[in-house]
Amino acid sequence: MSGITLTDLTKVYDSGAESVVAVEDLSLSIEDGEFLVLVGPSGCGKSTTLRCIAGLEDVTEGSIQFGEQTVTDYSASERDIAMVFQNYALYPHMTVRQNIGFGLKLSTSLPSAEIDQKVDAVAGMLGITELLDDKPKELSGGQQQRVALGRAIVREPSAFLMDEPLSNLDAKLRAEMRTELQELQANLGVTTIYVTHDQTEAMAMGDRIAVMNGGVLQQVGPPEDLYRHPVNEFVADFIGSPSINLLDATVQSGTLSGPGGFTYTLDDSGSIEGYERVRVGVRPEDITLVDDGENTAIVNVVEPMGNENFCYMELGDVEITARVLPSHRPAAGDAVPFSFPEEAVYLFDPDTGEALKTKTDEATDVAISA
Ligand code: ADP
Repeated sequence: MSGITLTDLTKVYDSGAESVVAVEDLSLSIEDGEFLVLVGPSGCGKSTTLRCIAGLEDVTEGSIQFGEQTVTDYSASERDIAMVFQNYALYPHMTVRQNIGFGLKLSTSLPSAEIDQKVDAVAGMLGITELLDDKPKELSGGQQQRVALGRAIVREPSAFLMDEPLSNLDAKLRAEMRTELQELQANLGVTTIYVTHDQTEAMAMGDRIAVMNGGVLQQVGPPEDLYRHPVNEFVADFIGSPSINLLDATVQSGTLSGPGGFTYTLDDSGSIEGYERVRVGVRPEDITLVDDGENTAIVNVVEPMGNENFCYMELGDVEITARVLPSHRPAAGDAVPFSFPEEAVYLFDPDTGEALKTKTDEATDVAISA
């Protein structure tokens, strides 16, 4: 087992006239035994990064280390890692037992009895013992994914690389498998890099999350750090569901003015000194609908979630969302006053997106309120 270190990793795809910089100057260290989630929108370079680590793509520049060992030029088979993909690619004519044991049979000289023992142990761990004699077509999607995992685990690799492994499963099963995978990874203690475009999955699973955009690493940290202290507007917007509310504002003597007559006076405007314009961010759960709110928005629609309501409102030409108690259900067209505490306000440079102020640590994890 070992950690993984990427240093200035760059991957350019050259296809004749066009070249695409898929990953640019990526430096990232994954600790031994850590579960790191690589997340970002489609096309941001996640899979390419994973494929470079696996040895399935040559890197254009930079280096990859497993522990102390530089493996940049090693072939995939020399790297001792196991990949799990979205499509399970099980061999249809083989039983579950044969599918799980096949890699060991090919790559080791272990006797069949020993391979069987290992397969039994892994199948037990994954709760698929009773399926060992079945063929893949007899299995559900979730069971097939377990077999694919079993195939990876049985090889006892020094790292798992997982590329959207759960995205073919329905929502409920996906949530269950997330938990299972996390428990399994924690028990095995194998360094794991998990790629997803789904920020909810990233938040739920990662010890740390690395957010990428346009081939460039934006930020890496524990989920709650990224949520509360994003380095820029991209990360703030990408992490969190429903998304953070964002609006343009002008600044005058510490007072922010924005769309729909929005106005907010900061007690402490030190972070935006010299700025005439800023981007203002407020998370939906930090907005409270209160009679004496400083601002007013017009309700578009309220989505009841059971344990809370999402209240979508218009503030001039911007749509904002508030997460409110289920008992709070204003009607479409209502003008509702709202408020939010200064501790919860995010401010961003309007040109670079850089965060100038994030939630202060005193900002409580605001319980969803009125
Ligand atoms: P993600 O996994 O985040 O969706 P990818 O790593 O698959 O992103 O792709 C990153 C960028 O590299 C995209 O612009 C994609 O079109 C491009 N790309 C990926 N694979 C190739 C390839 N084999 N040849 C050319 N361009 C590629």
